[in-house]
Amino acid sequence: MAASRPTPSAPSPDAPPGYRCDVLVIGGGPGGSTISAFLAQKGWKVVLLEKEHHPRFHIGESLLPLNLPLLERLGVLDQVDQIGLVKPGAEFNYEGYQPAVYYFANAMDKSYPSAYEVRRSEFDNLLLRNSAAKGTEVREGVKVTEIEFRRGSTSLVRAVDEHGATKATSASTGSITAGTG
Ligand SMILES: Cc1cc2nc3c(=O)[nH]c(=O)nc-3n(C[C@H](O)[C@H](O)[C@H](O)COP(=O)(O)OP(=O)(O)OC[C@H]3O[C@@H](n4cnc5c(N)ncnc54)[C@H](O)[C@@H]3O)c2cc1C
Repeated sequence: MAASRPTPSAPSPDAPPGYRCDVLVIGGGPGGSTISAFLAQKGWKVVLLEKEHHPRFHIGESLLPLNLPLLERLGVLDQVDQIGLVKPGAEFNYEGYQPAVYYFANAMDKSYPSAYEVRRSEFDNLLLRNSAAKGTEVREGVKVTEIEFRRGSTSLVRAVDEHGATKATSASTGSITAGTG
C-alpha cells in the first residue's frame, strides 16, 4: 500500500532558518543517495545534508553483481560502466593456502556474471548527482549536529554549515534516514 504524503508542519518559532521537507536524509553516501533518489522520484520533498563536498575520498570500492539491478533501477548503470572496471569474480589469498578463485558466472543466480570495481569518490559523486537530478535538494558542506524526534509531530534536525551558521530542518514524523559514515 502506498504511503500517504504528509505535509511537513512548521518548525517551532524559535528554530533558526532552514529547510522543510517530507524526508530528511543525512549523508550522501550510496545509501543516502539511493533512498533519496527513489523517494524524490515518487514525489516526496526530500532534503539531503552531506557534511563533505563530493567528490570525496571513501573506502569500499568493490561492488557485487546484485548491485547491478539496483544501479539499473536508479538509471546509472551506463555511467557506472564508464567509470568502473569490470570484475568477473574475486580471488582470496591467505598465507599458507592456495588462492581461492570465485567466478560470479558460477553463482546460483547467473543473471549478473560480473560486477565492477569503482573509485568511490567518482561512484558516490555520480549517485549524489543522480539523486539531485531526480529532485532531491542536496546541500553539501552541512553537518547534522542534533536530531529531535518529536512523537506525533514534525522532527527537528539541527545542522551547521562550513561558515558556522546553524540551520534547522523539519521533516515529517519518522522520515529521517542516516548514512553510516
Ligand atoms: C575497510 C572497509 C572496506 C570496505 N570494502 C567494501 C567493499 O569492497 N565493497 C563494498 O560494497 N563495501 C565495502 N565497505 C563498506 C562500504 O564502505 C559501506 O557499506 C558503504 O560506504 C555504506 O554506504 P552509506 O551510504 O551507508 O555510508 P557512507 O558511504 O559512509 O556515507 C555516509 C555519508 O554521510 C556523511 N555524513 C556522516 N555524518 C554526517 C553528518 N553528521 N551530517 C551530514 N553528513 C554526514 C559522510 O560524509 C558520508 O558521505 C568497506 C568498508 C570498510 C570500512
